[in-house]
Amino acid sequence: MKQIVSRATVLIFIILVSFLSCKSKAQEKTETETSKETSISQKEEITSLFDEVALITRLKELSSDRYEGRKTGEKGNALARTFIINEFKKLNVLPIKDSFEQSFNFSHKNKEYPHAGINVLGKIAGTVHPDKYIVVSAHYDHLGIINDKIYNGADDNASGVAALVSFAEYFKKNPPKHTVILAAFDAEELGLAGAKYFVENMPIAKDDIVLNINMDMISRNINNELYVVGARYNDILKSVLKDFKNPTDIKLSQGHDGSDGKDDWTKASDHGPFHNIDIPFLYFGEEDHPDYHRHTDEFKGVMPVFYTKVVKLIISVFAEVDATLSKSR
Ligand SMILES: [Zn+2]
Repeated sequence: MKQIVSRATVLIFIILVSFLSCKSKAQEKTETETSKETSISQKEEITSLFDEVALITRLKELSSDRYEGRKTGEKGNALARTFIINEFKKLNVLPIKDSFEQSFNFSHKNKEYPHAGINVLGKIAGTVHPDKYIVVSAHYDHLGIINDKIYNGADDNASGVAALVSFAEYFKKNPPKHTVILAAFDAEELGLAGAKYFVENMPIAKDDIVLNINMDMISRNINNELYVVGARYNDILKSVLKDFKNPTDIKLSQGHDGSDGKDDWTKASDHGPFHNIDIPFLYFGEEDHPDYHRHTDEFKGVMPVFYTKVVKLIISVFAEVDATLSKSR
């Protein structure tokens, strides 16, 4: 279903983004980038896969002070969880069993966190292989409040979680061939504890999970570049990416996978525990930026047009992999 985004839509989008943001030097820079980016997008044919304004609104909400940095076990984290579950319900996502919540104990750096972690797990039934699963994941926890400063983690990882909700929106009109588990993992910042617990206590047999797609930090990059990691370890994924027709002008790079001397991201986020038990994965993320793990990782640093295109790109890769794995079965 192809559509051209009309000038009016783009204009409303710009007005909304400008209106929602407060003014600062950094913001002025973002707005310049935004208008530059928008002029690019006006020329492009854009496939409309989900509500683009809602994507930005959800990111803004999850990275607002109300959520107090979403630290595992704390009030803001619970609020974020409620927000995600409500969005899932609105979009017809079903719980895996009786509840969307999977709670777990864990310890990290010699500290016990009894019942502090809670993953959010939703499900969309597959049309061709309902008994085979693709887990699409993003962690919703972040660092909380440190020295009276709220670490809002707009990019890390409100960006991934808002994208996860857009996946649910996309599935309403485009149901997946494999059953998809939408996983908002908790306690990623505490040793990937939520994802570790999930793979060790899976609600389904390990062999029935054919892929993990993980998103962590996807909303800003000054070079218009996004990395995809994981194809190196799997021939089907390698060939899908080789033949992939990128519907955006985002540069989709492979690397950061131990093959190129750059930081190896193979186990850097929640896809790591999947890789450890030989489940294929694709991790999407951008290069670190100066606000990484600082209280300055705020909504104003997000690049809305870049981010929207990135989410389109990831959903397009998903569709391609979903179809290819379906054929190979
Ligand atoms: Zn993260």
